[in-house]
Amino acid sequence: MNHEEIWQQFLIIAREEVGSRVVETWFKAITIDEWDAATQKVFLRVPNSFVKDWVEKHYIPLIKTHLGRLFHTHDLKVICADTKIEKEAASSPATMVIPARVASEGRHYPLKKKRPLAHLNDNYTFESFVVGPSNSLAYAAAYAVTEKPGTLYNPLFMYGGSGLGKTHLLHAIGNEIARKNRTVEVLYQPADRFVNEFINAIRFDKIPQFQAKYQRIDVLLIDDIQFISNKEQTQEAFFHIFNFLYEAHKQIVFSSDAYPHTMKGVAERLRSRLSWGLVTDLHLPSLETKVAIIKKKAAAGNHVLSDDVAHLIASQVVSNIRELEGALIRVVAFAALTNQQITISLAQKVLSHAGVSSGSKTIGFDNVIEGVARFYSYTLTDLRSKNRNKELVLVRQIAMFLMKKLTDKSLRDIGNFLGGRDHSTVMHAIQKVEDACLHHSDLNQKLQRLEQEIVQRTS
Ligand code: ADP
Ligand code: MG
Repeated sequence: MNHEEIWQQFLIIAREEVGSRVVETWFKAITIDEWDAATQKVFLRVPNSFVKDWVEKHYIPLIKTHLGRLFHTHDLKVICADTKIEKEAASSPATMVIPARVASEGRHYPLKKKRPLAHLNDNYTFESFVVGPSNSLAYAAAYAVTEKPGTLYNPLFMYGGSGLGKTHLLHAIGNEIARKNRTVEVLYQPADRFVNEFINAIRFDKIPQFQAKYQRIDVLLIDDIQFISNKEQTQEAFFHIFNFLYEAHKQIVFSSDAYPHTMKGVAERLRSRLSWGLVTDLHLPSLETKVAIIKKKAAAGNHVLSDDVAHLIASQVVSNIRELEGALIRVVAFAALTNQQITISLAQKVLSHAGVSSGSKTIGFDNVIEGVARFYSYTLTDLRSKNRNKELVLVRQIAMFLMKKLTDKSLRDIGNFLGGRDHSTVMHAIQKVEDACLHHSDLNQKLQRLEQEIVQRTS
């Protein structure tokens, strides 16, 4: 499905959910500008700022849920922009509500034109990256790579949980190298895009072009390499590209959510190559680092933020930096939309509505499993087993669904926890349960009760 078709599908679902009046008034004139699978961001083009404000205020959850399902993500980020604001943003990087990518498009174009391969976001630089104890090694290694590409740490492998800055550092490497030497060919490629490219090359008989493209690259930045797990043919192609670039002393940098040796479904010979160079990791930032990041992001958007407010936001968000940014954007946007100063009480109000996890009552896998086990009388051992008993399969799927919904863990973490299952199995399970809930209101009610129970017992 192309973007247009996906949006049409969404309109059909939205019509059922909120009625055709709403769809005609607000959604009909919107189009999908861009979908970025790597960051799970969808950029919606809205006709004017009035529609933008209205939709952002009332319909983001609807869009997140249903458009998210069409894009197969549970964590869709929706960014609306109208043409007018986008132009303004291109001349001054002022507002935080405007996505970095859209805002940068205008300034970025000449560089892109010269460098059609790069795919770099010029907002992700070393300057805009805050260094703290949680990421200083990865930062130092990344920066070192830009000074002597292909010689020092090759490949460089950075791993860490979601939203901790891996993608940012990959782009920073690319931007810095391109800045230092304009003739170097840099390519940033999320692994899932690489996989698709390879599949298309096979389908359309373009393998030689595919290989030629990769062989002329000097610096290859592959994001989320874990996506090639269980894709044997792609791994094969990648293995050859890797060898070619490596032997030609070209720089290769990987990001991943897991340490090379714990990556499942990756052929051993490739896995070992991934850790040939330097392997470094990113951790959760400390409170001080989080405060520094918030201040930096606010300053970049010309927003005035007191220390107290920065502290409040930083202490509210525990799991990752992407969420931290999200919280800041919500506070800033709310203040702008309602024409208020950004005060502590405003921030508190915004963040409490948004249901930001407050640290003290974070739900973990054990809480979910405990609840499920009480409700359905299956043990954790049952859930982890390979037993395909029909009822047990459903309960296992329900557990996955609730683990995703109630914790901030990745599909991969959930799969690992439940007997080493693949992330696609978990995703499939979640979709199954969502579909079942749509069609069976009794199941839906049951799950809501179960969810409430888990939340109540945890808090
Ligand atoms: P990952 O790829 O690890 O999931 P990203 O690189 O996409 O995470 O980071 C998520 C967001 O957090 C990005 O907007 C990024 O700019 C921001 N971010 C992460 N780490 C830092 C940091 N140390 N300083 C400033 N911004 C950061
Ligand atoms: Mg990333």
